[in-house]
Amino acid sequence: MAGTDASEMAAEATPPIGHGNLQWRILIGFILGLVGGLAAYSFAKDALWVQTIVTYVTGPIGQIFLRLLFMLVIPLLFSALVVGIAEMGEIRSLGRVGIRTLVYTVIVSSIAVAISIALVNILQPGAGVDKAAANELLAQGAEGASSIVQASAESQAGVNQLIAIVPSNIISAMSSNDILAVMFFALFFGIGLLLVQTRRTETLKDAIEGVFEVSMRLIGMVIQIAPVAIFCFMFNLSAQFGWELLVKLAAYVGVVLLALGLQMFVVFPAILKFVAGKSPIAFFSETREASLMAFSTASSNATLPTALRVADTELKLPRRIARFVLTIGATANQNGTAMFEGVTVLFLAQFFGVDLSLADQAFVMLICILAGIGTAGVPGGSLPVIALILAGVGVDPAGIGLILGVDRFLDMCRTTLNVVGDLVAAQVISATGSDAPAGGIDRAEMASADDV
Ligand code: ASP
Repeated sequence: MAGTDASEMAAEATPPIGHGNLQWRILIGFILGLVGGLAAYSFAKDALWVQTIVTYVTGPIGQIFLRLLFMLVIPLLFSALVVGIAEMGEIRSLGRVGIRTLVYTVIVSSIAVAISIALVNILQPGAGVDKAAANELLAQGAEGASSIVQASAESQAGVNQLIAIVPSNIISAMSSNDILAVMFFALFFGIGLLLVQTRRTETLKDAIEGVFEVSMRLIGMVIQIAPVAIFCFMFNLSAQFGWELLVKLAAYVGVVLLALGLQMFVVFPAILKFVAGKSPIAFFSETREASLMAFSTASSNATLPTALRVADTELKLPRRIARFVLTIGATANQNGTAMFEGVTVLFLAQFFGVDLSLADQAFVMLICILAGIGTAGVPGGSLPVIALILAGVGVDPAGIGLILGVDRFLDMCRTTLNVVGDLVAAQVISATGSDAPAGGIDRAEMASADDV
């Protein structure tokens, strides 16, 4: 997704997920589930009543929550990508600024994802879990996510994996949750929509934007039951894995923070200093208002007005370039999100003992880079995308339950990186060329800092 229209659209369509007391309710659900599960693990391990609760109460509630999320993934991803690409039509009219933004986004996102994948491989935060227990847990969750898991069962290898990216039948690709194939079709369709500009295609684009708005609203509603679902997930997991779960989760949070930290405090300063010729210290101090806003809202879209103002009044970047880069970047250049998705997928694969070959990891990397475009800049925007990637690499998407409880905090951190990353991009694009975009950026104009 890109552009202010899309951002505004998402902001309007989405109730403020995770705002207000929802985040507290999620935290309470997390703690109660964890404490309850640990108590069951410590005092009533293997007791019949614990098994009964897991099988008939907490297990099914968690599954229903996940199924509600999965149900919305295809419409959400498809509509977000199609509209995102269609809006990138601006890139054409922006000439070199557009191309530079695109190239920058691809290079820096690749660096980000490579860092996170390297870190998970080196530090192995999810490795060493009792395989029998993990499999038992997967068996319990398998039913709910079985349709998605099936898709990955016949995962392809080598050149076939590449060929399979192009779906021969989009309906069957969707029904088997073949994420890359669906993404490919959505990208292709978006390009088609760019090329044919008639009254009817405008209407079609509007309708697809409508699908996006509805999907976002429904996800917002589903997220409301997250506290109960998270209680259930944590109870199931900690009753099964006991204290080991806590250690693994802490290691996972540590690796995500380390990856985000490396990008924020090593890669960005290096880019700022050597490519943009800007003092990193001055940059961080000038952008702190936007960072704080991103941290507290966990939404790049909600932070866009603040980021625009900061670029204008603090960084003093050329208005038109900054507006273009920031509006596109709010949803299409999400370094933090790409890193988080990479770490999470590999962590869960390790946790559940799924061996990922180098080719599988390259697949994860590619999807995480692409997912930068397909992930909405709203709180929890990554979750449905992660569910799909998990299915794509053969890890039960139900595993996402493991990280839901700590997601809110990590969301705040990765969104900060997303927003700072957009501002770094704006700084670099402004510094590496004197050409201001030549017209055709009404959307950027609309997002004038004066509206803030
Ligand atoms: N919350 C993130 C953002 O708005 C998206 C995500 O969930 O990763 O940038």
